[in-house]
Amino acid sequence: MSIIGHLIDGEVFVEGTRSQDVFNPSTGAVSKSVDLASQVTVENAIASAEQAFPAWRDTPPIKRARIMFKFKALLEEKAEYICQLIGEEHGKISHDAAGELQRGIENVEFACGIPELLKGEYSKNVGPNIDSWSEFQPLGVVTGITPFNFPAMVPMWMFPLAIACGNTFILKPSERDPSSTLYIAQLLQEAGLPKGVLNVVNGDKEAVDTLLSDDRIKAVSFVGSTPIAEYIYKTASANGKRCQALGGAKNHAIVMPDADMDNTVNQLLGAAFGSSGERCMALSVAVAVGDAAADTLVEKLKSAMTSLKVGAFCDSKNDFGPVITREHEQKVVGYINSAEENGARVVVDGRNPNVEGYQAGFFVGATLLDNVTADMDSYKAEIFGPVLQIVRAQSMEEAMALINDHEYGNGTCIFTRDGEAARYFSDRIQVGMVGINVPLPVPVAYHSFGGWKRSLFGDLHAYGPDGVRFYTKRKTITQRWPSAGVREGVSFSMPTMK
Ligand code: NAD
Repeated sequence: MSIIGHLIDGEVFVEGTRSQDVFNPSTGAVSKSVDLASQVTVENAIASAEQAFPAWRDTPPIKRARIMFKFKALLEEKAEYICQLIGEEHGKISHDAAGELQRGIENVEFACGIPELLKGEYSKNVGPNIDSWSEFQPLGVVTGITPFNFPAMVPMWMFPLAIACGNTFILKPSERDPSSTLYIAQLLQEAGLPKGVLNVVNGDKEAVDTLLSDDRIKAVSFVGSTPIAEYIYKTASANGKRCQALGGAKNHAIVMPDADMDNTVNQLLGAAFGSSGERCMALSVAVAVGDAAADTLVEKLKSAMTSLKVGAFCDSKNDFGPVITREHEQKVVGYINSAEENGARVVVDGRNPNVEGYQAGFFVGATLLDNVTADMDSYKAEIFGPVLQIVRAQSMEEAMALINDHEYGNGTCIFTRDGEAARYFSDRIQVGMVGINVPLPVPVAYHSFGGWKRSLFGDLHAYGPDGVRFYTKRKTITQRWPSAGVREGVSFSMPTMK
């Protein structure tokens, strides 16, 4: 069985001390094993990144950008193979994996503009013969710790921009589907990245804790579940590191009575069930305003859901694939059971779907629950599965209060034809990313991604302009070149331009 190793100092390395099974969730079988890095291996990766930093920091940004251009071309050339790797270990259908990869590539495209992004700010004559400028310098060795659900895209939210800014990087991918991530890192190496600038360590808590406690690591980007995000943020901050830790979500859509219901249903289907609901921006709750709107919505969803196909990653006619593990499948089913026991109506039941030829896969079919209330566990928790819950509200204010009171604040959306309602909603809602008739308002690569409340610990959002700020520190230089022969006097006052 093949063993997935680490990329350290430009070489793939297997330590061979501890390992973990990697599954093909479509078949339920173990397909590979991943080496779990020890403290020593992680320290070797950090040493390699630290050694590579001085030369990389001094490499002109245009040369760093050229490597990113080549990297983008290689990603496009190898896209089919990358999607195959994602499908085998995550379970995503190829059309969905291709979308994830494209979103990752768009972050590489943004990083290609690094000479422009690092230009800084300049002011002439801030005083007599004095000019001042601010420049953005790299931090040093930085790290990224990423989740299973976007093994290509989320790492590419981080390392291309961090590296383009002049940092060196240690990536710790999810141990559940690490192959595509490692392969992508190898492509960047092939594009001409000097060895040690990007190192990949596969592993679990031991690897993460080593990264969090090592003084040589200057900043930590994390994406994953909220309890771990909080732990990462607190530990990294206590150890003096800059940290951005993106956590879980519960994304609500408000469906107003004036919404175009057929369009809304189509949008909800993709956003709730795409990628088996294993997206941090998945729309998992639809709050219908008024019982008439709720009844229409439920009937239309029920009828549309009869044609949805859950199945193996390798058949592109499937709409979505399995969930990541057997334990996760049971957890998702547990939430459906508990909602039903507590009074929710199971309108479409995805428990125990029959996926022909793949009986041992980790499948949950598309599920629709009506009459869900805010006190139910299925409402409070991030289910992270193909389950859409309908909550009934009698007014837009009541619907907005539900969203504002929820612990998460990642994404949300309103479906309406009323511009005034949409404007009021986007202004007052306590959520970081808002859609108006757009169900998955994932910001494009030249904006930045981040939620509010317990969906993000830290100040700066991921990628885009905030990413450049996160991966650099500002230095402001004030310079005087006195005119020849001019003698400056002594002054003990605070210098001003008064
Ligand atoms: P996870 O929190 O279990 O794992 C994320 C990373 O943390 C992995 O690399 C893992 O190895 C590491 N990790 C796990 N337990 C740890 C521990 N005890 N100590 C140190 N490190 C640990 O998340 P997941 O299940 O891989 O991913 C799904 C979660 O990620 C969902 O909650 C989803 O909403 C969230 N997510 C959020 C965003 C966002 O942008 N906000 C994007 C994608 C996924």
